[in-house]
Amino acid sequence: MASAEYSQAEVHRVIRWHPPSYIIQVETIAVPKIQHPDDAIIKVKFAALCGSDLHIYRGHGGVTQVHTCGHEFIGEVVSLGSTYGTSAPGRPSLYSSLKIGDKVVSPFTVNCGECHPCRLGYTARCSEGLLFGSPALEGGQAQYVRVPKAGATLFNLSDPKSWHSTLSPELKSQALSKIADSSLLMLADILPTGVFAAIQAINHPKLQPVLTGRPWPLCFSPSADGSEVTLTEEDRTLILAVVGLGPVGLCASVALLDVLATRQIPFKIVATDLLESRREKMKAVYDTIGADGRGQGQFVVKSPEDAKTLVKEWTSGTGCNAVLEARLLSILEVVGHPSALTLAYDLVRTFGVITSVGVHGAPQMPFVGSQLYNKNVSFDFGRCPARAMFPPAFDLLVKRQDVFGQVGHDAGLIDRIAGFDQAVELYRAFDKGEVGKVIFDPWK
Ligand SMILES: [Zn+2]
Ligand SMILES: [Zn+2]
Repeated sequence: MASAEYSQAEVHRVIRWHPPSYIIQVETIAVPKIQHPDDAIIKVKFAALCGSDLHIYRGHGGVTQVHTCGHEFIGEVVSLGSTYGTSAPGRPSLYSSLKIGDKVVSPFTVNCGECHPCRLGYTARCSEGLLFGSPALEGGQAQYVRVPKAGATLFNLSDPKSWHSTLSPELKSQALSKIADSSLLMLADILPTGVFAAIQAINHPKLQPVLTGRPWPLCFSPSADGSEVTLTEEDRTLILAVVGLGPVGLCASVALLDVLATRQIPFKIVATDLLESRREKMKAVYDTIGADGRGQGQFVVKSPEDAKTLVKEWTSGTGCNAVLEARLLSILEVVGHPSALTLAYDLVRTFGVITSVGVHGAPQMPFVGSQLYNKNVSFDFGRCPARAMFPPAFDLLVKRQDVFGQVGHDAGLIDRIAGFDQAVELYRAFDKGEVGKVIFDPWK
C-alpha cells in the first residue's frame, strides 16, 4: 500500500551530517523503502532541530557514519508494510487501523510495544529500540522517513480514539482541529521529556514526607500515622529548581507548575540558566501561562549564582527538595565552568533528588563518593520514554496552548520555521546559542 505521489518519487532531499564534526549538507538521495512488514513510510511535514542533535554535530557522540539527521518529526503516512490492514490480534492496535493519509507524530525513538520493557512503560529502553537521526536509523530531517515498528511507535492524530487520555475523544478531536502542526511537533520529544522530568521529581519517594505531611518512613504506611511530630507549613512547601532553560527546561517548568497547580501543592521554584536570553524567554513564558497553570507558589528566574543565594535564603541553607536538570546539551559548557550537574548538586538538600534528562557525554560524573554519601542524594538519569509519556504530554499541550501554540513570539518555544536551504546556517547559529528552537519545512 502506498500513495500515488510517493510511488512516483525516486529521490528526496535530506539534511545529512558528515564526520568528523560541524559538517551539515543538504543532499538528494534515494527515497526510503519498506524493508520489513511492520514498517511505515512518512511524508514529513515538519522536522525540528533539537539540543541533542548538537551532540553528534560537534563530533562528541563517537559517531563516524554519514547519516540523515533529526529525531523530531510530524507527517503523513504514505506507505505501509504488509502487516497493516489485516487484523493483528494481540498486537498494538495501529497494526490493524493505520491507513495511508493518516497524520502521525513519532516519538524520537522506535519501540516495539511488545517486549518486557515496553509492556512496563519503559519504552525508551525497548529491546528493539532505535534512535532516529543516528547511525542506526535515518532521521526525520528529510522529505520522507522510514519508521520501523510503526504500529507500536507512532501516534495516529487522525484517530484520537487510538490513545488514552484524560480528555474525551470528542475533546481530543476538537483540540486537534485547532492545534497547529508546529505545536503538535513538540510531542515528538521536548514536551514528553519535560513532563517526564517533572513527574520523576514529584513522584520520587524522597518527596513523599513533604507531600503527605507524614515523616519518613510513615509517608508510605497506609495505616494511621502514629507520628509524634506535626510537619510545619515550611516542611510542607516544596523547594524546587530547574537548571537549564532551553526548550526542554521550559517544557519541564510548565509541566512542573501544572502538576503543582493541579494537586494544590505549596511550592517555591527557582529556574536558572547561564544565558540571559534563555532566562528572559522563561520569564516571558511564565507571564503567559494562565492562572490555572501557575499554582499557589513562587516562581523566580535567576542566574546560577543568584539562584544558589536565593535557595539558601528560602531554606536557611538546607537546599532544594528536588532539582530538575534539563540541559540536553549545554550551549555554554566551557572548560573551567561548573557543569549543570555540579550546580544541581550545590542546589539540592540532604535527602534530595536530582532528576536529569540531559545527555551526558563526559567520561566522568563531577562527583566523588563522599559527596553522594554526605547528601543522601538520589539521581534519576536517562532518556525519556517518550511514547509512554505521550498521553500526559498531549493533555498538557491542549491545556497550555497559551504557551505551546506560539511561533516566533517572545513567549513561544519555537523561534522560526525555515526551509532546508537555511539548514547549514541554522545548525551553526543553534550551536552558538544565537537561535532557539527551529523547525524545518522540507518542502519549502
Ligand atoms: Zn529532541
Ligand atoms: Zn519493546
